[in-house]
This record gives sequence, C-alpha cells and structure tokens, in this order.
Amino acid sequence: MKKFSILYTDWKPDEQKHREAICTLGNGYIATRGAAEESNNDGVNYPGTYLAGGFNRAKTDVSGRTIENEDFVNFPNWTYLTFREIEGEWLDLEKCKILDYRQELQMKKGLLERNFRVEDSQGRCTSIRSRRIVSMHQKHMACLEWTFLPENWSGKVEFRSGLDGDVINDNVERYSDLESHHLNPLDTRKVNDNTILLSVQTKQSKITMAQAARTVLFHQDQAMQPAIEIHQKEGYISQLFRVEVKEGQEYILEKTVAIYTSRDVAISEPELEACKSVKRADRFKDLLLSHSHAWDSLWHRADIHLTNDDKNQRLLRLHIFHILQTVSPNVIGVDVGVPARGLHGEAYRGHIFWDELFIFPFLNLRFPEITRSLLMYRYYRLEEAKAAAKEDGKRGAMFPWQSGSNGRSESQVLHLNPNSGRWLADNTYLQRHVNSAIAYNIWNYFRTTGDRDFMSFFGAEIFLNIASYWASMVTYNEREDRYEIVHVVGPDEYHTSYPDSEESGLNNNAYTNVMAAWVMQKGIEILEIIDSRRRQELLNELDIDAKEIRLWKEISSKMYVPFIEDGIINQFDGYEKLEEFPWEEYQKKYEDIHRLDRILENENKDPNSYKASKQADVLMLFYLFSRDEIYAIFKKLGHEMTEGAILKNIEYYKKRTSHGSTLSRVVFSWIMLKYDKLQSWENFEKVLVSDFEDIQGGTTAEGIHLGAMAGSLDLVQRGFLGLEVGEEALWVNPHKLEHLEQVSLKIKYRSHWVLISVEDELLKISFEEGNSDRLNIGVIDKIHQFERGVVKEFSLV
Ligand code: BGC
Repeated sequence: MKKFSILYTDWKPDEQKHREAICTLGNGYIATRGAAEESNNDGVNYPGTYLAGGFNRAKTDVSGRTIENEDFVNFPNWTYLTFREIEGEWLDLEKCKILDYRQELQMKKGLLERNFRVEDSQGRCTSIRSRRIVSMHQKHMACLEWTFLPENWSGKVEFRSGLDGDVINDNVERYSDLESHHLNPLDTRKVNDNTILLSVQTKQSKITMAQAARTVLFHQDQAMQPAIEIHQKEGYISQLFRVEVKEGQEYILEKTVAIYTSRDVAISEPELEACKSVKRADRFKDLLLSHSHAWDSLWHRADIHLTNDDKNQRLLRLHIFHILQTVSPNVIGVDVGVPARGLHGEAYRGHIFWDELFIFPFLNLRFPEITRSLLMYRYYRLEEAKAAAKEDGKRGAMFPWQSGSNGRSESQVLHLNPNSGRWLADNTYLQRHVNSAIAYNIWNYFRTTGDRDFMSFFGAEIFLNIASYWASMVTYNEREDRYEIVHVVGPDEYHTSYPDSEESGLNNNAYTNVMAAWVMQKGIEILEIIDSRRRQELLNELDIDAKEIRLWKEISSKMYVPFIEDGIINQFDGYEKLEEFPWEEYQKKYEDIHRLDRILENENKDPNSYKASKQADVLMLFYLFSRDEIYAIFKKLGHEMTEGAILKNIEYYKKRTSHGSTLSRVVFSWIMLKYDKLQSWENFEKVLVSDFEDIQGGTTAEGIHLGAMAGSLDLVQRGFLGLEVGEEALWVNPHKLEHLEQVSLKIKYRSHWVLISVEDELLKISFEEGNSDRLNIGVIDKIHQFERGVVKEFSLV
C-alpha cells in the first residue's frame, strides 16, 4: 500500500498550500483541495472547491484598461468542521501545541486521512482522525468523518459544521488585482435537525450551486442527540453541536454533503436535488466502500506497475490519480474540457489550452470513452471557432489558444510579471497551433480506437474546418514557390514578436507550418476514410470544392520550412539573427532561471531578443511523430530528414531551452530516448517530481500540471515500452533501459485489453479480454498473431 500513498508526517504551514494541491480529492465533476477542514482562507490554508466547467466572467480596470477575465470559480467550502472545549479556542493548528501530525493521501481508495493530536493551553489532549472522500461512485456526494477522542479530559464540547459561501478567488497572488468576487448568495436554511442547505449563484454565468450537509454525531455507533444551534449570515450557514464527552471515549462525527448545480442533467433544480440526495445518503463507511470500488475499477484499467522502484512508482500513481480525478468517467457526456491545471487550483483560470495533446495518449489507451467526450468539448464550440475565423477574415474554424465556457478566446490580453510588478501585453493568444493539436488529437483518437462513427460525424467536421482555416491562413510566396504563415506564435512563449517591433507575432514558426501541412494532408485522407454520403454532406456544408482540395494538396507539399544551416530547422524566420543568451551568467546570477521571461523583463530586457526558448518548439515535431512519419512529412515538403539531422536539432535547441513549462521536459525525455538514455531518464525523473517537489517554485499550490503528469505516463507506455498504434497492428518495441527494469501495464487497443510487461529483459504480451479471439501485435519488427489467454515471451537481450 505504501506505493499508493503520499505521506506527510509533520505540519508545515509553509508547505500547506502545495500539499493542498497534491492532496486534492475530486471525481471529474467536482474537486476540493486538501485543506484542513477546520481552516479558512487565512494565509496558511486555502480551501478551494471547483466545479468542472464552473466559470464566471468579471471585469477589472487594470493599467488604464478594462479587461474581462473568465475565472475558474472557487465555490463554497463544504468541508468546514471544527471544535472547541466550551468557552475555549476553536481548533487552530497554528495556535495549539501539535503533539503528532500525520496526513496521508491514500490513492488506492481515493481517501485523504489526517491523524493529529493537539494539546490546549490547559493541558487537554485531543486526538482527531479525519477521513474524507469525494465520491467517484456518486459524483454529487462528498463526505467527511471525524473520530474524536478526548485523551485526558471530560467536558462539554462544541462542534461547528458549516457551508461557507463567503469565499472569493484568492489562490493566485498574481491575480489579486483582478476582480475576485464571483458568487452571489442565494439561500441558507435549515432543512431538518441535522441538515443545512446553502445555495449560491455565480454573478455573470448564473451557475447555481446548492450544497446540503447532514452532520450526525455518533457514540458507540448510536446517533447522539446534541443541542443544536444554527448560525447563518448571507452566504454562510453552520450548525453548532453541543455535547458532553468523556475521557478516553471515541465520538464519530459524519458530515455528508450533496452538491448539485444548474449545469446538471436530469434534475428539477439544485436545492431540491441536494436535499433529496443527502437524505438518501448512506453512512460514511458505505459511501467509502462504493467509492473505493469505483477506484478499484479505475486502477484495474489504469495502473502502471513498476517493481523495485518505490519513489517513481508512487509518483506515477500520483499522476494517474490526479488525471482520473480531473477527467474521470464522470465527465463522459458532460460538456467539459481538460483544464491544464486540473480542478486543483486557480492558475490559468481552469482554461483549456493545447495540453490535451499530452493527456489524450494516456486516456486513449485506457478510457477512449473519456477522450471522445472531451473531444466533444471542441465540437460543441465549433460554431464559436468558425465565427472567430470569420472575424479574422479566414475560413473554417479558428479555435482559441485559451478556451473556457463558450469557446470564445479566453487568452489574456495583459499579464502581470510578479518580479517587476508590471502589467504587460500578452500576445501568446497568437498560438494558432492549438488548432493542429485539436486535429492531431482527433486523428490519434481515431487511429487508436477505430471509432468511425465519431470520425465520420464529429471528428471529420472539426478536422476539415481546421484544414480550411489553415488553407486560408497561408500566403503564397511566388519567388520561393512556397506557402507561408505569418503573425503567429509557436509553442515557445518567450517569442511573441520581433525585437523592437510594434507588431505582434512571428513569421513561419516551423512547428506551426509543418503541423499545418500535416493537417492538410490528413484532411484529404479523412475525406477518403469517411463514407461517400457523409463526405458529400460535409463538402457541401463546409463549402469545400475541388479547387480547395487541390490547394490543400499543394500546401501539404509546398509549405515553407525555415532552416538555419545543415539541417537545423529555424524556430521561425529571423530567429537565427537573435542574440545568443548568456546562460552561464544567468545561472550564476539567479537560483532559478526557469522563467527567464520574467527575469529579463524585470531587468528591462526583452526575451524576444535572445535565442532562449521557454519550451520545446521545433522539437515538438520529433515528439509528435514517429521517425518514419516525420521522414515522410519532410520528404513530401521536399526536405530530407535524417537521424543525424534530428540529433543536430536536439543538440541545438537543448542548449537554448530554459524549460519554463513543465511540458518541455516531457518532450526532451522523449526525443533523447534514442540518443542519450541517461539524459532521457533524467528528464523523465524531473517530470515525475514536477508537482510533487514543486520544481517551478510555488506553481503547484495554484494547481497541478496535468500535461506533465500525463506526459510522464505516456513516456512509460509509448516512450520506454515503445507502444505505437499502427494502421494494421499495435506495435511494441521496448527501449532497453537500465533504470526501468520491470514494468507492467494494461492497454485497450481497438476493444482488446492487452497486457504488456518487461522483466529482466523479457517482454511478455498477452490479451485476455476483447471482442475477438485473435489479435495482431507487432513486436520489435515482426507482426505476431496472439490468441486470447496465451502469453508470448520475447527476449530483449
Ligand atoms: C505553456 C503552455 C501550456 C500552458 C498550460 C504554459 O506555461 O507554455 O504550453 O499550454 O502553460 O499548461
């Protein structure tokens, strides 16, 4: 069980917010940070509760401009629970003497447990065991249990159990100048002796949330009859339970909360549903049982097992755990996307970027139903993306870099550099490459699952719209007889314009151009894959004629790719002219140079002036495509790509990347695999500790990095084990790695569950469940036919 647990054995106020993010419990519908239930937003603690898709817009005047942000709303805190000896102080770990403290995130069951003993000023020692779940089985239910033991005293105590809607968005210091009040109180009321209700509504988006809490005290498994008082004010309600407790006896307090919102389906209205559900709810132990069964099923599908490596094993599981808490089966059919920072904090305001690119490969091979649902998030926003393209004078659909509720662009126009305190123009919205990421995700979902219905109906429509967009984005350079894309920003966010230029954007970002060429080519292939009726429908609907298709064909072979020399791809036109960055000088000068952009701006310098990248940009191409695919793409574009050239590109950009995004190390670990196994492994281990050790200095407290988390898992499956979904078979071609001697996992490939393990240089593959008795799997370089239940072994020596 140790390998399923994250354990803290002390109370560290400085680390509390980081631990809260790591100990967040969620079920895809709702998530609550692992804050101490007796705490408020008090500087040390930050209880935050987030609803998938729970956004609200608000305006603020900043730097002489009115800006509107769509925020990820911090909803009422359902966990609030505390006690005091009568007339004493309310429990506060910052004020009392802590005799013992132990906090454990038990990932196998999805349980957060805190065990602590405190002593007050009069020498009274109390022990509390707190256990908490956010039910994976019943997504509307969350539950908290306290086992309360007065160790050396008897007397009167008061327990306070509350629902606190008097909360603001206050998790990210950088956002503190921005409007942070997103909730209007609607209702507080006593439902019955043990149950209270709170409802609130977001100010602009008008999402109503109702929480009904039932709190019951038990002694020797009998419900007690304490004196109960209700306290309420606008947006807040609590119950005060007054009882006599006896030295050495245990008292159990159960707080069961039902949460409903106006976004739910099959409801009358949230208050009514919350009251109904909490009335029907079982006791904690039963809720825990069904919840842990739901987790058993998830682990059965998703676990990746390492032997002899406790730390990495735990971290991989931490990543699986948080991915499934953010996008669990509870999101299937719900209109939500994948927030880059999980449901764990307020950074990036719950927005949806291109990070799905790193997340879907893990889901595709285990929970394709979840990917399908998350792809529908884009489908439902196709109209908005089409309107955005039209407004920009383009055809097709232009999905925004940052997306939230209705798919309009939620990218920031200004951002604060916390180092300098200056508000700066933010041009990262020009990352049009997000469109290719969406197309790539559709294609990969289809390739992994073979889901023709999705492709023909929804996938193709999004894909072809994106192809049309790119076709209208290009300009023809007659002299070069090449197509170009201008005024964009690539994945590297340190370069958003030319030095000293008033205009934003760059020309011919190689990654953007190559991806656009790939989209054109795949678009044509997709038209051939879908049936003729649907093809005709789409061509008519999207107004794509033969001339347009000829253009796609031409662009896919004549897109311009900038090169510096000797096969080194130029990140964008003009990058070659930028100054070399004095890495050593800055490494000496600053402890942490991940966020070079902030450091430089604070020194009144412009990151645009240097050959210094935030993250992998050009190198993304070698991450997204297999060697054969990338050779073919470049060949079609009239360039030869070779192993040697790939290596040169890696060497060139490795020296010029600060890894200011956690995604960057995922890419580097991947691309180094073939060339330098040690460096690949070192990057992998960095990815593994990204959030657990908060390597970006404070960012995890504001939300986990879901892309890096999922990226680490994908590194194991598609990287180290060399899984590749080919046209005619699944391929397994493990890399020999000193550091990863034993690994086993299960994946779903076209409705078959395939078990793969490597142990002592022996690869074992079998499949037990599936819709046919035979399956072709390519192992190393040859396709083998597998029969259900028969294990085949291959030596890797
Ligand atoms: C990275 C982006 C990423 C975003 C959200 C940024 O720091 O540069 O690539 O999409 O974070 O994770």
